[in-house]
Amino acid sequence: MVRYVYAFTEGSRDMADLLGGKGANLAEMTRLGLPVPPGFTVTTEACRTFLTTGGEPAGLAREISDHLTVLERAAGRRLGQPDDPLLLSVRSGARFSMPGMMETILDIGLNDDSVLGLAKSSGSERFAWDSYRRLLQMFGSTVMGVDSALFENAMARLKEDCGAVDDLGLDAADLAGLVETYKELIRQETGESFPQSPARQLQRAVLAVFQSWNVERARLYRRREHIPDGLGTAVNVQTMVFGNLGPDSGSGVAFTRDPATGRAGVYGDYLANAQGEDVVAGIRNTMPLEELGRLNPEAFSRLCGHMATLEAHYRDLCDIEFTVERGRLWMLQTRVGKRTAEAAFTIAAELTDEGLITADEGLVRVSGDELARLTFPRFDTSTIGDPLAHGIPASPGAAVGAAVFDSAEAVRRAAAGEKVVLVREETTPDDLPGMVAAQAVLTSRGGKTSHAAVVARGMGKVCVCGAEKIGVDPQGRRFTVGDITVEEGTVLSVDGSEGAVYPGAAPLVDSAVMRYFETGERSDGLVDAVARAMQHADGVRRLGVRANADTPEDAARARRFGAEGIGLCRTEHMFLGDRRRLVEAMILARTDTERERALDALLPLQRQDFTGILEAMDGLPVTIRLLDPPLHEFLPDRTELAVRLAAAEAHGSPPSEHDAELLDAVNRMHEENPMLGLRGVRLGLVAPGLVAMQVRAIAEATVERRRAGGDPRAEIMVPLIDTVEELRLVRQEVEQVLADVSEESGVSVVCPVGTMIELPRAALTAGRIAEEAQFFSFGTNDLTQTTWGFSRDDVEAAFFSAYLDKGIFKVSPFETIDRDGVGRLMEIAVAEGRAARPGLKTGVCGEHGGDPESVHFFHAAGLDYVSCSPFRVPVARLEAGRAAL
Ligand code: PEP
Ligand code: MG
Repeated sequence: MVRYVYAFTEGSRDMADLLGGKGANLAEMTRLGLPVPPGFTVTTEACRTFLTTGGEPAGLAREISDHLTVLERAAGRRLGQPDDPLLLSVRSGARFSMPGMMETILDIGLNDDSVLGLAKSSGSERFAWDSYRRLLQMFGSTVMGVDSALFENAMARLKEDCGAVDDLGLDAADLAGLVETYKELIRQETGESFPQSPARQLQRAVLAVFQSWNVERARLYRRREHIPDGLGTAVNVQTMVFGNLGPDSGSGVAFTRDPATGRAGVYGDYLANAQGEDVVAGIRNTMPLEELGRLNPEAFSRLCGHMATLEAHYRDLCDIEFTVERGRLWMLQTRVGKRTAEAAFTIAAELTDEGLITADEGLVRVSGDELARLTFPRFDTSTIGDPLAHGIPASPGAAVGAAVFDSAEAVRRAAAGEKVVLVREETTPDDLPGMVAAQAVLTSRGGKTSHAAVVARGMGKVCVCGAEKIGVDPQGRRFTVGDITVEEGTVLSVDGSEGAVYPGAAPLVDSAVMRYFETGERSDGLVDAVARAMQHADGVRRLGVRANADTPEDAARARRFGAEGIGLCRTEHMFLGDRRRLVEAMILARTDTERERALDALLPLQRQDFTGILEAMDGLPVTIRLLDPPLHEFLPDRTELAVRLAAAEAHGSPPSEHDAELLDAVNRMHEENPMLGLRGVRLGLVAPGLVAMQVRAIAEATVERRRAGGDPRAEIMVPLIDTVEELRLVRQEVEQVLADVSEESGVSVVCPVGTMIELPRAALTAGRIAEEAQFFSFGTNDLTQTTWGFSRDDVEAAFFSAYLDKGIFKVSPFETIDRDGVGRLMEIAVAEGRAARPGLKTGVCGEHGGDPESVHFFHAAGLDYVSCSPFRVPVARLEAGRAAL
């Protein structure tokens, strides 16, 4: 027989799936002996049954009535008893908190008789009538479907008639009149009367809370927060206690430590003579919690005692809602509280010190995302003033710039050296150039998966989206917030971590956590907490962490950040700038001699690059990838060149021989789909001398570093392999050059030769490839591109926001590894590669290497290391530690 109702005395916090978060914690507090107003919880299972069958679950009414009887006996009064009524609250409470999304009905049990009893027992007629009209309003709108605005209008009319400025200006008689008006309203709107039977009120209220699971705002909230639709909500039925019975009553919220900084000490707000709803709604100014100590020292000291009990029991920061009814303290809710990134690290360290949690648990309670948030510069909040508007914190960091209202203006001003903030209602792919040019993006519409948010995050650009209070007028080149107008050119400060926009240029402060990673300086408690988490993570992680770096400066920084080598040195970046001319010469060469001359000119430059990097990473592995992108990327743009030539011709001047040759080469090498064209290993196999030049530069740099007393550890990596044959041919050439340089120099140069696995075919034939490859490095950017068939350069801006909105995936597969598809290919490749070559070293060097969630997968897949941008190295270290626990 299924059971649908549990008394608070029967449940526990382990039963959150069945009792919802609130119900489970109410039960837990009851078990701990804390003063919780008695009550019971109707399970999420009852809700699920109701939602699927559309009817009240069989036996539910009986169970509720039985539990009510127990409650009534203990209280010594009945629900709605005419002379001294027991009143109940009926509240939703799902497994995952959905604040304010579902319904609550208070004061169940009041009717035309019991309102008089409540007036007598409470000693306040006004209070009794006010409670009754609140019930009619909540029940009328939530349960009976009357538009709540009609109640509000009636209230407003009454206040006008009485000349009252606010609710407190209405006396008992006014409110009794309002009760009649409300009852009539309900009759008119629904054709039925407000149910006078308390039991009927309770039954209908419970079903209405079930139904509120599916209201539009709750559905939207779940989609945004990735909460499954099938969970349903529990319903908590609890004895009412009143914080609005006079000055010796009140309600408040409290935290067992400061949720902003994590520092120890009670923290919260209290509102005398008010109900909990009034505190949350912020209709009157609250006072700091300590004030309660002055008003009611006994209740305050009890509260502090209960908070200590809860924190010790939950072994974490708890937040609490409480009510004082005529001097007596009641605990209404608790849960493990939300906190800022700063508080997360501080609390983890302090609870570990206090012996409440282990260092392992402390590490699990912080995250790479939180760490990343702490490394951005922030606005100095002590001088910043009030924000102009709030929106969704879509891409973190802080930026200052002049407001501009279209992409072209952003590009124009940025080109002139001005810093700008692009303000749009929402962005489209057409806004891309403006987004690139801007310091930050601000939109008035759209959520975390809007185009602006997705693209800005991809670019690491500060973004606040969905700032609904701002009205953007692109034609007028201005936006308004209330009665403030912000014209184009006005300087704004955008805080993408907090989702706030401030007027003017707010002062920026560097992150002390970033300074710690740069210098090792532990300047304050937070930095110390971060340092300890990092140390612990390094102690427990199995996964190595390397960096993607291609300059000595980046390599040195990565090393300071804790990188254990370079997992990807992209050599193409060394072919840009002034050297483009030499690459051009190599491509245009008509004879072997011309080509050799160009390569000879590149050789010392490449050698110098590698020497610097090997020096910065002395003693650690440096994986150098042979040239990857299509060669025409080093030539001028085809259209630009054609236009230049046409213009010259129009002016009567013949095209220069060089330009004509260039155009010829550009045309010859043009590819419709270069990402799938002549690049990677294919280039090495058809462009004579290129591989040999690069390998010689690596080998000679190794010799140079060795002679200087260093310990260079270059590894040579071949990109975009499809088949083992490609690797075999390139490897032969590589080994030959290494042997040549060893012989010429008298220094034996041995470099492991491995390959990237970044095409599905390579992953599927990894066993064969491992015969030739001494290591694998997964290029998850290209592997994602080719597995999904998504152009990595286009799709995120083109249609990912639509895909995310439709729920086709929850996060871009270019950001977090797609375990089912790309991940599966990786697992196959690791297993088959290691079967063919036991102990084969495997790593990841795509963007996913620095993504927290992906790091956990790479750990589970048994890879040896991840490689990511230097700034993500600390995040990867932390997450690799967490993954190992
Ligand atoms: C990759 O494809 O994942 C990779 C690291 O190479 P690139 O991003 O340079 O193509
Ligand atoms: Mg690649």
